[in-house]
Formats: sequence, structure tokens, C-alpha cells
Amino acid sequence: MLPAIFLDRDGVINHNRADYVKSWDEFVFLPGALTALQRLGALGWPIIVITNQSAVGRGLVTPLTIEIIHANMVSAITRAGGHITDVCYCPHHPNDGCPCRKPRPGLLLTAARRWNIDLANSYFVGDAMTDILAAHAVGIQPILVQTGRGRDQLIALRNAGIDHFHLVPDLPAAVDWLLDHESLIAPKSSATNAKASSAIVTASAAAS
Ligand SMILES: [Mg+2]
Ligand SMILES: [Zn+2]
Repeated sequence: MLPAIFLDRDGVINHNRADYVKSWDEFVFLPGALTALQRLGALGWPIIVITNQSAVGRGLVTPLTIEIIHANMVSAITRAGGHITDVCYCPHHPNDGCPCRKPRPGLLLTAARRWNIDLANSYFVGDAMTDILAAHAVGIQPILVQTGRGRDQLIALRNAGIDHFHLVPDLPAAVDWLLDHESLIAPKSSATNAKASSAIVTASAAAS
């Protein structure tokens, strides 16, 4: 069994949209995300995207469009020298009560079975409380970024008294931390690494 890096999509890899990403034209990579994903490949672990796409259940986008967006996303990441092992999404409406919509851990459990993942040593990078809670539900170590909905969600997490997660500015900083934390020799993003490292604080320190 290998650990994996699980990644939320909107607000982590690409810009979050309040009105949902409904086409490939509306999918815009966040600054540094492609380079970060290329560097993350140095871990040699599966990298799995776990995303709620209720726009399907809301009738705003078809499953085929979601599949096209994900195929284009994976192609762009691959061209940039990175890799994505799998993309798992929940298409359901929030009122459907499905087991796969985060904060429920259904997608994580399905991916773990499919790829024989060691969840206890895996990480989940997300921008929302639902990502943190899904990670907690199955013993994955959560990392909260401050892109996307991250700043609002940090306040919500503090108000809920949830402080068991690692806090970083963005995906490039998460990758810096992961590569350092896993004690691997990997090329650093020289411009951002020193700054990112000093910007990393624990959630409890940030809350005080
Ligand atoms: Mg998100
Ligand atoms: Zn679902």
C-alpha cells in the first residue's frame, strides 16, 4: 500500500467560481499550480483529485462536460510534467443524501480501494471545511490552503473549534511542505520556498 496525495479541485488547482465551473473555458489554473503539480510528482505517490460537482445534480452541467473538463485538466497537468492518477467526483445535489458528497468520505474510500491506498499516511489538500472533515472521517492528514474559499473557511473552522489541519497559503506552499515533511530530496521552487516556509503556521498558532 502506498500513501496518496488527495487534492480538492476548485480553489486548490483552479479558481473557484461561485457560479460553478461549467465548461473548460471557465477552468482557470491558479498561479503556480501546474508547476506545483509537476514538483509533487517527485514523491512518486498516487495523486487523486476528489471534488464535489453538484452543478450536475443542479442541472447546470452534464456529466459529459465534467468528464471533458477533467480530461483537459489532466492533459494540461501531464504536458506540464505532472501526473494525476485519478479524478473522482460527486455529481449529486446536496439534497440527495449520497455517501460521496464531501464532507462524507465516500469518494476517498472508493479511491482508496481502487488504488490500494494507505489512508493513515495520506494527505488531503483542500480549501474548505468539507475537505478537512472528509479527511478526518477516514484518518487522512488535512492541509488547508488559503486560495479559493480558504480564508472564509478558516474562519468557519475556527468558529467550529476544528484545529487539526496544516495551514498553508496555496498549493505551491503545500507541495513545498509535503516534500520537506516527507524528507525527500526534490527541487524547490526557489522563488517561493523560503517565503512559503516562513508563512506556514499551525492552525492552533494561527488561531491564537
Ligand atoms: Mg474547493
Ligand atoms: Zn454524491
